[in-house]
Amino acid sequence: MIIEEAAAAATVEDQEIISWFEGVAENAGLVQTQTLRRIIELNHGTEYLQKWLGGDLRVQDLEPGALESLFISSVPLACHADHEPYIQRIADGDTSPILTQEPVTTLSLSSGTTDGRPKYVPFTRFSSQSTLQIFRLGAAYRSKVFPIRAGGRILEFIYSSKQFKTKGGLAAGTATTHYFASEEFKTKQKSTKCFTCSPYEVIAGADYKQSTYCHLLLGLAFCDQVEFATSTFAYSIVQAFASFEELWEELCGDLRGGTLSPRITSPEMRRAVMDCLSPNPSLASKVEKKCRELEGSDWGSLIPKLWPNAKYIYSIMTGSMQPYLKKLRHYAGYLPLVCADYGSTESWIGVNLEPYDPPERVTFTVIPTFSYFEFIPLYTRNKQDNSNLVVTDDFVEGEPLPLSQVKVGQQYEIALTTFTGLYRYRLGDVVEVAGFYKGAPKLTFICRRKLILTVNIDKSTERDLQIAVEKGSGLLSQTRAEVVDFTSHADLAAHPGHYVIYWEIKGEAADGVLEACCREMDAAFADHGYVVSRKTGSIGPLELRILESGTFRKILEYYIGNGATMSQFKTPRCTTNQVLLKILDRCTVKSFRSTAYG
Ligand code: AMP
Repeated sequence: MIIEEAAAAATVEDQEIISWFEGVAENAGLVQTQTLRRIIELNHGTEYLQKWLGGDLRVQDLEPGALESLFISSVPLACHADHEPYIQRIADGDTSPILTQEPVTTLSLSSGTTDGRPKYVPFTRFSSQSTLQIFRLGAAYRSKVFPIRAGGRILEFIYSSKQFKTKGGLAAGTATTHYFASEEFKTKQKSTKCFTCSPYEVIAGADYKQSTYCHLLLGLAFCDQVEFATSTFAYSIVQAFASFEELWEELCGDLRGGTLSPRITSPEMRRAVMDCLSPNPSLASKVEKKCRELEGSDWGSLIPKLWPNAKYIYSIMTGSMQPYLKKLRHYAGYLPLVCADYGSTESWIGVNLEPYDPPERVTFTVIPTFSYFEFIPLYTRNKQDNSNLVVTDDFVEGEPLPLSQVKVGQQYEIALTTFTGLYRYRLGDVVEVAGFYKGAPKLTFICRRKLILTVNIDKSTERDLQIAVEKGSGLLSQTRAEVVDFTSHADLAAHPGHYVIYWEIKGEAADGVLEACCREMDAAFADHGYVVSRKTGSIGPLELRILESGTFRKILEYYIGNGATMSQFKTPRCTTNQVLLKILDRCTVKSFRSTAYG
């Protein structure tokens, strides 16, 4: 179905938000100029903008286009570190207009948590409102292709993290935590006519294992009403069903008796869950029978077998979530995997208008009212090194372009100017323009920009690592083993330095197969710098380390203990964090070195 046909079949409410979006998409360039004007009008009195734009700017005297040019020529591109001193003062209680005219009362933790260091960004009412808006918009397009029953339920694996106060008394936590606690989250359920199975006390429970147990139990209790299963990032769904494989008997016991396992120790969570439960022996027997069958088939199609009315699975499945797709498809069986929208703690960016597209093809259409977006063109530089071999250097950047000037097929880094006080802020994501929907670019998410593995002249990205692991783990298909999760490290302490890739695997694989996997991964890193250095021996053979079962769970717990949330957790694909490296070292049970380059 094409987008226009989908829109034609919409209900009044859905049609309203679709029409709004079509209008802004049609005039995306103009809307962007107006969005920037609005941001400057609201915040030109702030310390940050006064520093760059001067204290005597009269916004009303300038045409929107002239204001846009002035802004771009006066305010520099910046990264988180440039905003950090300002944000720190806000966190410490300075209420003067530093980044925004309105005082910031809440701070969010952005994906800096994956580097082991929390990155604060301001969170305002606008953040929750835009979340509600993109969720309603995405739901409107989705319901045309995959209609769901009004009043149905969502099996939602969502989690809040610990909220705490900064030195200056501001509430701090992850963006999803703030959102789940907001009025907008309740409004979303009402306006999309679909309600999460779990009460708020389960979402807000501080222990993700207890919350997962209750999400699963209530999901089973309401199994016939569940219309779809979801989480913010796909990792949480895969984790939840991996736990289900271990917990199902206990869950069936609770379902039968209307009881709650003693593993739930939070009194609030216990009370809230018990209010939703009553003994249901017939459902428990039915679920138990299905689970016994599923156990025999390695839990394939678990979701549609236990939730017979589920229409699809909905989550972020792109980027660093791609390695979990295989497992997700295994649990999902014939159910379509629908990709959730593209955004970050800093700002929402694009909506998925084509829910029927599989994760491998999905694009995100930029919403031009959410922030002012700039696109920094990235070109791959080929340069001659001393040995006259062509090595691929890091990206070369072109001049930042407004949304209306991007080119199909070109890759860009996104920079954001937001209503929450970030100005020309490099997000660090690489996207490619796949086309346009009316005047708004459709983006494919490529990867995080930061190079993750480098020993000397080599430059390997998260994407390169992902491809290498896909190739290496492909050889495991001969066995009954599979890679549960992975990470990596460039070991520079050893001479020569080399890449170390850590795998946790489920099932048994012979050493010979793992040796072959290690070789395959070494050969798969295609960066010229890597290939040349491996050939000359200035980078040593890649090392594959096999970890004991449960290692990545320990890593997750380490991050959650440091303020990350299960809802936004992304396994660090490369680490230099000493605590993590110690965990990885302690949990290594086997190690192999590649023979790929002789
Ligand atoms: P966080 O700071 O935890 O909100 O994470 C935001 C980051 O997650 C983004 O900058 C992206 O790198 C990644 N991300 C968010 N949405 C998507 C998506 N739909 N596809 C791929 N990556 C995504």
